[in-house]
Parts: sequence; C-alpha cells; structure tokens
Amino acid sequence: MNSGPVSSIIVVGGGSSGWMSALYLNRLYNQEKHTVDITVIESKDIGIIGVGEATVHSIRFFFAAMGLDEAELLKETNATLKAGIMFNNWMKPVDGKMHQYFHPFEHVQIGPGLDIASRWLLSGRGEIERFDQGASLSAHLIEKGHSPKMANARPYEGAVPYGYHLDATLMSRYLRKKATEAGVKHIEGTVSQVNVNGENIESIVTEHGVHQADIYLDSTGFRGLLINQVKSDNWQSFEDALPCNKAVAMQIAYDDDQVPNPYTTATALDNGWAWQIDLVNRRGTGYVYDGNRISKEQAEAALIAHNGENATILKTVHLDMNVGCRKEFWVGNCVAIGLSGGFIEPLESTGLHIINIGVRLLATHLSSNQIPQEVRDSYNRLMNGAYQDLKQFIVLHYCLTNRDDTEFWQQAQRSVDFCPELKRNLTVWQHKVCEYFDLAGGYSTTFTDENYRFILYGMQHYPNLNMQVDEEHSKDLFEKLGRKATQTVQNTLSHEAFIQSLHDMS
Ligand code: FAD
Repeated sequence: MNSGPVSSIIVVGGGSSGWMSALYLNRLYNQEKHTVDITVIESKDIGIIGVGEATVHSIRFFFAAMGLDEAELLKETNATLKAGIMFNNWMKPVDGKMHQYFHPFEHVQIGPGLDIASRWLLSGRGEIERFDQGASLSAHLIEKGHSPKMANARPYEGAVPYGYHLDATLMSRYLRKKATEAGVKHIEGTVSQVNVNGENIESIVTEHGVHQADIYLDSTGFRGLLINQVKSDNWQSFEDALPCNKAVAMQIAYDDDQVPNPYTTATALDNGWAWQIDLVNRRGTGYVYDGNRISKEQAEAALIAHNGENATILKTVHLDMNVGCRKEFWVGNCVAIGLSGGFIEPLESTGLHIINIGVRLLATHLSSNQIPQEVRDSYNRLMNGAYQDLKQFIVLHYCLTNRDDTEFWQQAQRSVDFCPELKRNLTVWQHKVCEYFDLAGGYSTTFTDENYRFILYGMQHYPNLNMQVDEEHSKDLFEKLGRKATQTVQNTLSHEAFIQSLHDMS
C-alpha cells in the first residue's frame, strides 16, 4: 500500500452494493479529474442475492448523485413507484375488520402551534379512522391508484416523496453498464485467496492472477469473504430482538387486468410477515419468518396460501439471513458494504438505503492511505449507530402488536426488552407526543419522529394530551386537507398512466 493519497480501490462483488459503491465513488473521484482506479471483481459462478426490490424515498438522491437518468433507470429495471408501505394484520382485527395502516414517506411535522397530528389525536378521530388518512396526502393517492408524480414532473421530483420497486437483478446489470461506461474496470473472476498482513489486505487472488489496491471493499454478500479474513469475532447478532432469520421469495405472474400497486404491502402471518412488491411485469412476494419455529416447506406452503392457490408462480427461492451487523465495518484497508456489513430484515426496505449510507460515509472519511485509527473508529461508530437505530425502528413495528394468537406474536410483544431506549420512550410516548428531540442524537436520517408517529399511531399507541380542541375548527382543518388531497390526486397521473408514459417514451 502506498503512503500517499488513495489511488486504487478494488470492490469484490457485483451485487447492488458492489455496483452502487463503484458507480458512486467513480463519479466522485473521477468525474472531473481521474484520481482513483476503481475495479469491480465479480464471480460469474456465485450469483447475487437477487432480492431487494423495494426502496425508501431517500434512495432517489443517491441515484441522482450517481448521475442516473431516472426515466432510463425505471425502464431498465421494470420499476414502479412506491408511496409507502401498507401494513396488514399487525394488530388484532377491529370490529371484525382486518387492521390496516399505511406508512408514507411524507413528512408531517408537529408544532409550533397545534399541528395536524396532535389535532387528529384530540379530535376523537371519529370520521377519519386512520392517522395516515387524517395527516397525509399519500394515503389518498394510493387509495385512488395514483402515482406520487405529477404529469411532466422533473426527474426525481414528486407531489409527495416516493421510492421505487425495482428488479434487483436488472438493477445490478444496469448499474454495471453505467459504471463500466464511466470507466470502472470490470473483472469476471472468483477470489480464491485473500493475502493478509496484520489487519491489512496485501493482495487477492483470482484465476486471472494477483490483484492489489490501496482499499478493498467487501461486497461479497452474506459471505463477508474479505472482512472475515481481517478480523475474527466481528459480528453482533440482532436475532434476540428480531428472530426472523429466513425467507422464501416467490415471483408471481399478473392476471391480465392487474395494475401494479404504487406501494409495498407487508402482511403479518403466523410466524413472520409477507411482502408484496409490484413491478411492471410481475409481482414479487416473500415470507420473512422465524426459522426456529417453522420449516422451509411450511413457510412455502403458507406463502402459497397467502398468495392464493391459483396464483401462477414463476420462481421460488429460499434464503438464509444473517440478522445483525459488524462490530467493525472498516478494518485496516478493508471496508464491508452491503450484506457483508450487516442486514436487518427488509420490513422497511432498507437494504439499499444502508449501502447508500455506507458508501457516502466512506467517501467523506477516506482521505488518504495514512488515516489515523480515529477516522476508522468514527466510520464504525456512525455505521453501528445507523444499524442500531434501524433495529430499534423495526422492533417498534413488532412490540406494539396486541396479537397473541401464536407464540411468535407473543414473543414479538417482548422484543422491546432488547431495546431499552425504545422501552423507555414508549412509556414517555404514552404521556406526550413523540417529537424530534426524543430521538435527537440518533443516527437515523431517514426514520425520524415523523416516521415513528406513523407507526405509533398506526398501531394505536396514543399519548394522553392535556388539551381540548374546538371540534368545528378541527373539522374545517381536516376538510381543508381533504381538498388538498383531492387536488393532489387531480394533479398526479394514475400509476398505470405513469408507467405507460415511461414506456411510451422513445
Ligand atoms: P449479493 O447480492 O449477495 O452480491 C454478492 C456478490 O459477491 C455477487 O456478485 C457474487 O458474485 C460476489 N462474490 C461472492 N463471493 C465471491 C468471490 N469469492 N469472488 C468474487 N465475487 C464473489 N433491500 C432493499 O433495499 N429492499 C428490499 O426490499 C430488500 N428485501 C430483501 C429481502 C430479503 C429476503 C433479503 C435477504 C434481502 C433484502 N434486501 C432488501 C437486501 C438487499 O437484497 C441487499 O442489501 C442488496 O441486494 C445488496 O446485496 P449485496 O450486493 O451486498 O450482496
């Protein structure tokens, strides 16, 4: 390794994390003046995980920063738009009806006066049963099957914040094409040996020979091929709090008249939950479950029953998941990004998001080959914080349940015991609204108090507020929001029309 500036980076792995990292770093370091040689080494014998099809909204800024044309990205990946996540069955049925709530990406801030969220709480909630319907525009858009984008909207711009549903395999291919066009070197080869000196990688070996670089990114997925060589005892499991450690993913064909939903669905089943992610050409579904409670066969049967016995199955894949993260993501000259760094079950579609955080923070921390250990420590602290915050946010979805129909859900209620800070806050949030300051000092930039309120109120965890409001005034305000929602629906394209418009473009 040279002692000056970083001049070469090898990324091992050609899944989403490998190509997202390579493309982003290449644009940063080489767009104006070529500074760093970037090479991706990808095995053609070891596939990518091939799931990971829903995103959070902030991924738009990352794609924009990579210089990707949004319309092209969407077309190349059979993508649809996503206004949020609909949660079904996460609580007991209410009055015989399935419990349902929606988590949009919209920001509904509270204060300084009496805000719409608090007003909704104080107004008896009579006519508007669901908080998301009372406080967001997105809930109205999806009810009408509308996309979050207006006709002729600028790239990456929406009437409300939005993310994507995209085909993970096509996305890796698309990113590879863009990266290699932009000058990233691509080697198809399998790493068979990692030569380490202390905590530094000196070289790696493939069938093409020996490869050397200043920095090595481990994007080899759950294998963690490089990071495991530079440090042992470097994993913290989250399975005590989040016991779902397996998944079965199933691609389903559409019936002729089906229009893709502009939102993800997460339906609670007996031993976990099932996702539904609609692409242009097919539906992605999957059951994320606790493998200590049911077998692969039972999970597959449950997913088939959930999808409907008549559904046409195109493909089924079973997956093991390592739920947790590294204690140290950056060791010596090796940085683990993507599944090799950590994984939290995909309930809030955060896999690509955490890659985005990992590579952006790497770019701000990576100044030279001689950085002091404190800089690596800073990176590791921030990444660890991001995973811990995310773990807490996911546990929130489980621990608030009142379901007790299976042992899985009884245990879910106790999952908060593994998140003491959340446990304390849940008591606090019975007595006051959840606000920015309660979570300040955390590491999550994507899930803030606004997101917490959608989950808390969606799952009926309401605070007692010592205020009274004028019902007429509240009615006026909700009617005003209703008119704004109607206007937003009028100004946006139906999801079907949006998809059509993309594919009509030359
Ligand atoms: P992989 O895709 O596993 O890529 C690993 C790469 O390493 C491959 O190219 C392979 O060839 C290469 N490799 C391995 N060994 C070698 C070797 N010896 N030599 C050379 N190359 C090698 N994320 C989301 O954002 N949204 C979701 O909805 C979502 N859902 C998910 C559902 C499930 C069930 C799971 C398990 C994950 C989900 N994720 C989701 C996470 C997402 O799939 C991953 O974060 C993302 O795909 C990144 O994967 P990766 O690139 O780290 O690893």
